[in-house]
Amino acid sequence: MKRAHRRFGRRGFILLFGSRTIIRNDPSVAPVQTVCPRCGQQAQMVGKTYRHWFTIFFIPIIPMSRANSFTQCSRCGAQFPVTPEQLSSRLSQSETQQSQEAIGLYNSLRASPANSVTLNQLMTMYASMKEYDQAISAAADFPQALHNSEQCMTTLGRVYLAKNDLDNALQWFDAATNRNAHLGEAQYYKAVAHLMRTPPAADKAVAAARAARSAGYSNADALLRDAEAKARGEDASGG
Ligand SMILES: [Zn+2]
Repeated sequence: MKRAHRRFGRRGFILLFGSRTIIRNDPSVAPVQTVCPRCGQQAQMVGKTYRHWFTIFFIPIIPMSRANSFTQCSRCGAQFPVTPEQLSSRLSQSETQQSQEAIGLYNSLRASPANSVTLNQLMTMYASMKEYDQAISAAADFPQALHNSEQCMTTLGRVYLAKNDLDNALQWFDAATNRNAHLGEAQYYKAVAHLMRTPPAADKAVAAARAARSAGYSNADALLRDAEAKARGEDASGG
C-alpha cells in the first residue's frame, strides 16, 4: 500500500491529505483453480481490484482512478493484469496449442522415424510441460531417431534426471558420451547425476564436470569446483 501525505496548516489547524492505493478482493468474480504460470503449482487464482483514492486524515474520500482488475496467485503472490477467467482461458489456449504442436511433431516422426531433430524437439516440448512420461514414451516409439543421436540421448537422460530416476539418467548420459565425449551438455548432467547419488559419486562427477568444462559448457567451472570439494570430502554444509 502506497501512501503520500501533505500537510496543510494554518493557525493550529492542520489538514492532512494524501493518496493511497487500496486493494480489495473482487467479490463479483469467482476464484479459479489452475496451474500458476509463475510457480507452476496448482493454486487458487483470486480476482482482485486496485484503485487510487484521495485521502484526508488517511481516510479515503474520493476515488482518483477506476477500479482495475487483476488476478493474484494464492500460493506465490504473483499478479497478472487480467481477470481469473481470462487467465485460465489463456492458459488452456496455450496448452491446446502445445498439444497440437506435439501431434504435428508425432505425425512428422511417423513419416520419417529416424529424424532425431524432430524427436529431440518433441521430448524437449514435453519436458517443458513437465510431461516426463510422455517424453519417455516418445523416445520408446522412435528408437531409430534416439539411437542415431547423442543429443536425443542427453535430452532423455535429462528427462529421467527431472524424474529423479538417476540410474536411467546415467545410462543415457553414458550412452551419449560414449558416442561423443565432447558433448558438454551430456557431461555436465552426468556430473550432476553423480553428485545427486547418495552418497555422491564424487570422482565420477569430477571427471564428467572436467569434460564438460573442456567442451566449453557454461557453468561447468562452478560444477567442477563443487564436485572437487565433495571429492576432497568437504561437506558443503560443514565448510
Ligand atoms: Zn503462483
